[in-house]
Amino acid sequence: MIPSPSTELLAPAGSLEKLKTAIHYGADAVYLGGKKFGLRAKATNFEIDEIREAVLFAHARNVRIFVTVNIMAHNRDLDALPDYLLSLGLAGVDGLIVSDPGIFRIARRTVPDLHIHISTQANITNSESALFWQDMGATRVNLARELSFAEMVEVNAATDLKIEVFVHGALCISYSGRCMLSHYLTGRDANKGACAHPCRYNYRLEEEKRPGEYFPVEEDARGVYIFNSKDLCLLARLPEMVKAGIDSIKLEGRMKGIYYAGGIVWIYRAALDYINEQIKAGVVDPVLPDVFMTEIMKLGSRGYSENFFDGSVGAENMLYTGPKVTQEYVPAAIIRKVGEPVIIEVRNVIRPGDELEYMAPGLENIVFTVAEVQSLNGNPLEQANPNMEVLLFTSVAIDWHEHGLIRRVQIKK
Ligand code: SF4
Repeated sequence: MIPSPSTELLAPAGSLEKLKTAIHYGADAVYLGGKKFGLRAKATNFEIDEIREAVLFAHARNVRIFVTVNIMAHNRDLDALPDYLLSLGLAGVDGLIVSDPGIFRIARRTVPDLHIHISTQANITNSESALFWQDMGATRVNLARELSFAEMVEVNAATDLKIEVFVHGALCISYSGRCMLSHYLTGRDANKGACAHPCRYNYRLEEEKRPGEYFPVEEDARGVYIFNSKDLCLLARLPEMVKAGIDSIKLEGRMKGIYYAGGIVWIYRAALDYINEQIKAGVVDPVLPDVFMTEIMKLGSRGYSENFFDGSVGAENMLYTGPKVTQEYVPAAIIRKVGEPVIIEVRNVIRPGDELEYMAPGLENIVFTVAEVQSLNGNPLEQANPNMEVLLFTSVAIDWHEHGLIRRVQIKK
């Protein structure tokens, strides 16, 4: 059994590649979904062979793997469940993430030795609810995102369970995904992991006798986004959570790209390490330096909210006036093989003379200029295109790490 660190950093992985990136940047545990039974149906998700590979890769690096089995199941979903759970147990996963009591019951019968964590989709908002799951045999609960910090501390004190809290990522305008808007408008069920995010659409008014004539309902010149929530970001509140003994901080984003998957872990890893060092050095109330917020802004968001952390929220805390993620940086490449020169897989066109940044461990940005790019057989290239593997020569010597990311400032049109 891999021991838990004091505050676990739990990262999302929508694919094997993102899992390796998250582990490279310092995740203590990674959660992922199989092809069935997990929310986030649009994430690439894992076949059982890939889950086995993920477990081997993670365990070799002292990282745990948790698998989501958190759909709201109907009877027709249940027949195939026992075999699937058995295959997860044989693959060596460290725990299941469940919200449906029916799935919980089948899991307790089928794989009694596997840890079961209760998903945020179960909407645990009080100590009695957490104790209910403890009595049923769960070992960890992810608290509802609608709790204040004071309530998280109360639940933590009232139970022997591990307490997990979402600290970063997309929010729902409803209670954590318990929403039928997507099902009604697009036929895609959020409770089966297929949300089309219609809460982020731009809505207009149409008078029935004038079809096709749309009247703007203006919040601002861009339209109206009546249900659109900001993204959660509790980075600045991590010191309070670490001091309060929250066992695990969880990052959302299995459907996001590799730059986000790596970047978010990179920042939260460095933040946890900084806070732990400060506490060890005797600092009573550590405060994260500005660089952490500066970096988080580079990843792109719909605007950040601390949600219910300090209590109730109003429209000004939650609603953003546009659907777009603003992203200052884009991924340029992934380090595939460390050596002299390094081999990279290109994500956005790279040319000699480009200025790029290597996201080195410890929140270190190494800025460099591309001296030359060559094909793998040594031919100089005028440009390297997405998905190509090429040799990269740089203006300065860099201590590269496999699975590390290179990014560039997005070119503004
Ligand atoms: S439509 Fe919006 S509020 Fe509803 S589940 Fe999807 S993301 Fe959440």
